[in-house]
Amino acid sequence: MTSPTATPDHLPPAHPEPATPGPVDRPGSRAARMRSPLARQVVEAVAVDHGVCVRPLAMRRTSLDTGETQIIPVPCGATLASKCPPCAERSRRLRMAQCKTGWHLDDEPLPDPDPPSTDAKALAVLRADLEEARGEVLAAGDAGQVTEIDQMIGQVDQELSDLGVRGRIAPVDRDRPRRVRSTRRRQDAPDLPRLPVERRTVGRTFTAPDGTVWRPSMFLTLTCDTYGRVRSDGTPVDPATYDYRRAARDAIHFPKLLDRFWQNLRRAVGWDVQYFAALEPQRRLAPHLHAAIRGTIPRTMLRLVAAATYHQVWWPATDRPVYDNQTLPTWDDTTGGYHDPGTGEPLPSWDAAVDAIGEDDEPAHVVRFGPQLRADGVTANSANTGRMIGYLTKYLTKSLDACHAVHSDRQRAHVNRLADALRYEPCSPTCANWLRYGIQPRNPRKGLAPGRCTGKAHRRETLGFGGRRVLVSRRWSGKTLTDHRHDRVDFIRQQLAALGATGSGPAAPDTDPGRLAWTLLRPGDPAAPRREHLILHAIAQRHTWRAQLDTGAGLGGSSATGPPLSDAA
Ligand SMILES: [Zn+2]
Ligand SMILES: [Zn+2]
Repeated sequence: MTSPTATPDHLPPAHPEPATPGPVDRPGSRAARMRSPLARQVVEAVAVDHGVCVRPLAMRRTSLDTGETQIIPVPCGATLASKCPPCAERSRRLRMAQCKTGWHLDDEPLPDPDPPSTDAKALAVLRADLEEARGEVLAAGDAGQVTEIDQMIGQVDQELSDLGVRGRIAPVDRDRPRRVRSTRRRQDAPDLPRLPVERRTVGRTFTAPDGTVWRPSMFLTLTCDTYGRVRSDGTPVDPATYDYRRAARDAIHFPKLLDRFWQNLRRAVGWDVQYFAALEPQRRLAPHLHAAIRGTIPRTMLRLVAAATYHQVWWPATDRPVYDNQTLPTWDDTTGGYHDPGTGEPLPSWDAAVDAIGEDDEPAHVVRFGPQLRADGVTANSANTGRMIGYLTKYLTKSLDACHAVHSDRQRAHVNRLADALRYEPCSPTCANWLRYGIQPRNPRKGLAPGRCTGKAHRRETLGFGGRRVLVSRRWSGKTLTDHRHDRVDFIRQQLAALGATGSGPAAPDTDPGRLAWTLLRPGDPAAPRREHLILHAIAQRHTWRAQLDTGAGLGGSSATGPPLSDAA
């Protein structure tokens, strides 16, 4: 049984504390009435106890064979416990399974691609001839023929894709990116060893004198730089000198730094290092990364790569605002851009502003890792593995600002100051905050206001980190999250089939997913049941399944580790 780790504010705790004897409220008083739980809360608490989604969606399932339709509650799939504790716990467990699968693999998780077929090669030759012909008619200035050849190229590409060839022979867009960085700005060549990267992703083994073969892996923690001394509660010793601006910028650009770290690491060690990483805040609210790495890498090498890795942000400077909130640039419908409120001149476009960065200018920001780096060896199936996976996924059901409880005014002030710093920091080229610095954001539209950008990085619950919380390299387990989910459904299906049970959910043994059509019922749909009825239905269904599985566990000695998944395919 899944036991949710957190309960949102609007729900009573799943297992309430026994009431402490206190002053007895007068029966019928407001206080006495407020003590009685709302019926809705009771249903939601039962749903949480049973691992049933508290915000289900209604989906109509139509059998393509019989035309029979049925309305089925489908879990909301939230990853945060503040939205739906059972769904958040379920997705955390899925991540744990994903992490475990890839950590100590003996073999490469993904097969090499099949060699190209004769048909595919013939099409590629035809494609080359078309490219040649296109060049000739283009030189002759025959626009009509170019269009014709482009259409044929499109057909060949489609046929290749029908043959199961992934990707394209050549990019559709023929324009080269016009901005070329000088070598001084190239940052893919830090002072590190550079080896050709083998296709290998599994780590090496070590054989002990007694013949035991060990396949060790690693657990790595990377942190952001320091922004000023902090106390044990994570708040700065001197808030006035703590560098909130750099903390904000580092958080926004941290994902880019991580990408570069893995890239540098692979080149430095010469094999295709794979990782399962989770991002969470330290107590001082700076992001740090926990990563399970497959295989071992010497600590000195990890330190070397972390110290040499940096990411330069080549954005226009934002150290001084050009406009304050009273004199903001105004939108002009005719030009489709923003203009200076005083002179009426259009603001420089994003591209123009980036092009204006000179050869001798410094990058707007440089992100680096902090000096703290931890790396530990982990062997397969040791007690440590489970503990480490728990540690890696511990905070996944919480928003970043809720990972550490804020108790004191000092901590609250620290969160507020960081949130203030994040408010006007541009999060991306399209960010509304560029207006404050006299630059049109990329793809400008009406109604943009600095400080009101809707980018995730500005939200308090992300603490500047608007990216994904779990970062998994492609060849970690060789499976997508959907593959892992299907593994679970298959497992349950086998269990139910072995018991001769005929469930009615998508995990039912006799359900062919290909013969079912699913449509989401919109909230206004008259056929959509009320949310409460959906939850009650799901609880009853779960109750039946659990009873079936429990009987099976008693008889056959097997037990299911998770509930039947009712995700719509
Ligand atoms: Zn849910
Ligand atoms: Zn933004």
